[in-house]
Order: sequence, then C-alpha cells, then structure tokens
Amino acid sequence: MQPEVILLMGPPGAGKGTQASALAERRDLRKLSTGDMLRANVSEGTDLGMRAKALMDAGELVPDDLIVAMVRSELDSMRPVRVLLDGFPRTPGQAEALDGLLAEYGAEMTAAVLLDVPNDMLVERLLKRAAEEGRTDDTEETIRHRMSVYEKSTRPLIDFYAERGVMHRVSGVGAVAEVTSRIEEVLD
Ligand code: ADP
Repeated sequence: MQPEVILLMGPPGAGKGTQASALAERRDLRKLSTGDMLRANVSEGTDLGMRAKALMDAGELVPDDLIVAMVRSELDSMRPVRVLLDGFPRTPGQAEALDGLLAEYGAEMTAAVLLDVPNDMLVERLLKRAAEEGRTDDTEETIRHRMSVYEKSTRPLIDFYAERGVMHRVSGVGAVAEVTSRIEEVLD
C-alpha cells in the first residue's frame, strides 16, 4: 500500500471528528486526532494529560513540542504512513514539524480539506454538543476563545497548504453523509 496523508481542517464545531472517522474507515487510514489523544491522556492521568488539562479547559493550545512528540510516537510504528489527521497541525510550527516527520517516514501530505461552516452555526453546534456530551471546554466563553485561537494560529495554514496546491474547500453544512460525499469527490 502507498503512503497517504489527508488533513481535515476547520474551526471548532465544523465536524472534523465525525468526518475523520467516516473517511478513515472508507479509505483504510488510521484516524489521528490530537484532541482525542489528549483527552485520553487526561482521563488516564498521565504526565502529559496533567500538563494539558488546564490549557484545554481554557481553550488554549497545548505547546507544539508536546503535541509533536505525541504524534511522532504514533507515526513511528506505522509503515507505510496512512493517516487521516484531525486537529493537527494547528500552528505553523506544527506544520513544519509534520513536514519533517513525513519526510523521515517516506510520506508527504496527499491532500488537505477545509470544512467551511458559517460562524453562527458553529457556536450553535458546539453548545448542543456541550449539552449532550459535557466536554469541559464546550462552555460559551471557551468556545469563543477557541474560535479566536483558530483564527489567529490555525487559519494561516490554509494559505500554507494552498500554496502547495493540496488545499480543497468543502461546505460542511448539511447531513453528515452528504458532507462525506463532498469530501470524497474532491479527494478522488
Ligand atoms: P476542537 O477542534 O473542537 O477545538 P479538539 O478536540 O481538536 O477540538 O481539541 C480540543 C483541545 O485540545 C484544543 O482546544 C487544544 O487545547 C488541544 N489540542 C488539540 N489538538 C491540538 C494541537 N494540534 N495543538 C495544540 N493543542 C491541541
């Protein structure tokens, strides 16, 4: 099998996690969600989890070096590298570190997909999720902060990948299955 690296990007609430699970299964990729990995560390009470928890609850980013080390250990055992990235990279520093890791492992970014959803719909979705799942970073104030962190730290990555010709934009509005088909259309 060939290496394949697909990145799902988008603001909090755009539906990255849901789409990442569906696509990973259909394309035989491993879903790598740094948010899920961090939450697992928090609930297991690891050293990393203890360092990350307060930052996550405040809607701040966990430092790049901790995130990159976590991703490296996940990719280390994977040959060929076949991953669906959800929530990573999230800063220019992480994107550069990812380039280095992929080069080391004989892979490169295959495609990046940006899920586009209007802002008012994002807040609405996240508040609904807060009521259903009780994620401790889904309060209205933290949601707004996570959105501003996205604008400042993560949005610049759209141009970074667009300049390489691997960026695709897809509307994230509509039924889950509809959005999955739209993503598959741009990938094939
Ligand atoms: P969302 O996309 O809804 O904000 P995630 O589950 O991807 O949710 O992330 C939750 C939190 O975990 C973030 O607010 C941040 O604190 C931390 N986090 C996840 N991924 C990263 C990353 N790549 N770099 C830094 N922090 C991260």
